[in-house]
Amino acid sequence: MALDNNLLARQKLAAALFPKIEESPQMIEARYPRRQLKLGAMVTRIAPSPTGFMHLGGLYTALISERLAHQSGGVFFLRIEDTDRKREVPGALELIINSLTHFGLKLDEGEIAVGQETGAYGPYKQSKRASIYQAFVKQLIVSGQAYPAFETVEELEELTKKQEASKVAPGYYGPWAYWRDKTPAEALAMLDKGFKPVIRWRSNGDPEHQVIVNDMFKGRLALRESNQDIVLLKSDGLPTYHLAHVIDDHLMGTTHVIRGDEWLSSLPLHLQLFATLGWQPPIYGHLAPIQKLVGQSRRKLSKRHDPEASVTFYDEAGYPPEAVIAYLLNLANPSFEAWFMSHPDKRWEDYLLIIAELKKGAGALLDLQKLDSYSKEIISRLSLNELLEQSLAWARKYDPPLAQAMSRDLAYTTEILNIDHAGERRRKDIAKWSELRAVIGYFYDDIWAATPLDLASQLGDYSLSEIRTIAQAVVANYNPQDSQAEWLAKLRQLSQTLGYAPDTISYRQNPQRYKGSFGDVAKIIRVLLVGRNQSPDLYAVMQVMGQERVRTRLTG
Ligand code: GLU
Repeated sequence: MALDNNLLARQKLAAALFPKIEESPQMIEARYPRRQLKLGAMVTRIAPSPTGFMHLGGLYTALISERLAHQSGGVFFLRIEDTDRKREVPGALELIINSLTHFGLKLDEGEIAVGQETGAYGPYKQSKRASIYQAFVKQLIVSGQAYPAFETVEELEELTKKQEASKVAPGYYGPWAYWRDKTPAEALAMLDKGFKPVIRWRSNGDPEHQVIVNDMFKGRLALRESNQDIVLLKSDGLPTYHLAHVIDDHLMGTTHVIRGDEWLSSLPLHLQLFATLGWQPPIYGHLAPIQKLVGQSRRKLSKRHDPEASVTFYDEAGYPPEAVIAYLLNLANPSFEAWFMSHPDKRWEDYLLIIAELKKGAGALLDLQKLDSYSKEIISRLSLNELLEQSLAWARKYDPPLAQAMSRDLAYTTEILNIDHAGERRRKDIAKWSELRAVIGYFYDDIWAATPLDLASQLGDYSLSEIRTIAQAVVANYNPQDSQAEWLAKLRQLSQTLGYAPDTISYRQNPQRYKGSFGDVAKIIRVLLVGRNQSPDLYAVMQVMGQERVRTRLTG
């Protein structure tokens, strides 16, 4: 009889806490039927909070989740965890969606494009799921597994102080959980007075107990059970991460939760919540954060200190998205590199990610030079058209004067980009589009005119009259119809006429006979044409520039 009374009292309390919630958990479950998947298919998700920042580590987690889902014939979805309304930033959602699109991670469900949600397991935005969480919490109130707590912030601070003084573990648990043992009537009285509670879980965990878990990446782990009566529902009616994660990943049919290491310590709690709700938990995989080498020591890539922690850094610098993805796959799987090098015609989607290869211990180390080498390789593999499109798209966004110069004469730009881009030995000196201005900018007269030519530091070893003599002679002798061999022979001949050894060997044998060697002549021409002693093959540069431009640069 007493039991029935308790039940009635809890039902009354639940009704007072959630007067608008009519749907039962069973009705909700019926709206989220089990997914029909083939054996072994994984359902994974990325669940970012819209904070206005997308961390490289978040992209890494998303990539691994995406690969595991799609290579197993499963589903990869996006869920927006926006229950912390205070942290919400305008434009944050767009940043998440656009970043995933930019890097080519295909979403099957969720907001797949801004304002466009798809999938049968939605809504995929937690702020739109308040009534779902509340329905489950309402039932937990009825069953006595959750209860309202009315402490003020000050009272909770006071609790922490007392616990510190008594040298006991901090938190809201057992004897320290003031509202845990209050009766429904006492809670109702507070509600009547207009107080707004949080809803806490009535934990029956024991930190002396160890929970054994099998992490996909870390293997078998023994973790302490949680005895904390954590907040399930905040006073604004929205859930904490813990509750939302458990309910959503259950209803949405997630089979594998891949997330950051920072959640590992909450794993026992999450498993206990799954058990309380009577559900089978998903398989978990916790990834160590990407690290950075600073001096001799490694540290976590930091949102505050490292610009390269943000995914926008890579777009601004002009790395093709495929290069960033290939680089991240190489961080995840050491054997990716050999595959990548031996499959120049394949896309990263064709690579089969190996779970066992994901680093078990320390986090992967970010190495921008390595990223550069992936990127150089990927840029060298682009078709001429892709090269033109991608470089121009970047310049339009980040270097409009360069974009203007490039698009003024697309045929000219195509020829420029084509230098050393065909055949077996392709140029691999461009790692990112922000290097483009330095690498091809000199071809364009307006950019050339705007770049100061520092003759003194580049050609200080030669007198001005000598430079002029050489330049004039080269112009007089230049015939764009010449083949490369003819051009080279002529230039060597010309060098000799002007008192320079026709090649390095002759010069080394008899340095006193010459003013310098053929290399000096080439250097002078190159610096006058491109502004520095570094360029692709001079013949190709002159061919593309055309006779008129060559003449103006050399003698104008
Ligand atoms: N919103 C959580 C975060 O951004 C998601 C963690 C998870 O993947 O479950 O850290």
